[in-house]
Amino acid sequence: KQAEKSVRDSITLFLDWPNKGVGFQDISNLFLSYENFSNVLDYYEYRFNDADLVVGLEARGFILGTAFAQRMKLPMMMIRKKGKLPGPCFRESYKKEYGSDEFEVQEKALSKVVAKPGKKFHVIIMDDILATGGTMAASIELTKKVLLNNDIKDFKISTSLISSIKALNGKEKIYEKYNDVSVDII
Ligand code: 5GP
Repeated sequence: KQAEKSVRDSITLFLDWPNKGVGFQDISNLFLSYENFSNVLDYYEYRFNDADLVVGLEARGFILGTAFAQRMKLPMMMIRKKGKLPGPCFRESYKKEYGSDEFEVQEKALSKVVAKPGKKFHVIIMDDILATGGTMAASIELTKKVLLNNDIKDFKISTSLISSIKALNGKEKIYEKYNDVSVDII
């Protein structure tokens, strides 16, 4: 697969960053190569051709999510670190490989998004790396809350990641918790 090779060629491993014992996969070079990034978007287009909404997680998920949403002419919703979004927000705290954090989404984020009748509303949550799965689990919770709060009840959630840290079993943990959510890792 072209996208797989583009990802492999774009990841730089930083040992002991940001903390000792952590191996950090840096994907900056993916965005610096038009061709490699484009190969990834080609893959998304093929894999998620029936998507209705893209959700981007701060910060690298914004880059991936926005690029994909624009290519597919789809709306793109932001999930951000706490304190960045104005107005009433849903909030979830989560643990990650190093430290914990809180994510927020505006309660009315989808008030202007209309679901097509008769079709399951397909949401793709995008982030770069899956480690313990904590970030993604919190994002699934927030996405569900916003969908229901905006009267979208017939939905399906898929998650999409560039790469994973296999030893941390993030994929298995998501599948255990949400048997109706798919996890796609390039
Ligand atoms: P998790 O919640 O699955 O433990 O951690 C995933 C989150 O932390 C993602 O939002 C991801 O951006 C960030 N993250 C954790 N480890 C890495 C890594 O090795 N490389 C990059 N680029 N992000 C990471």
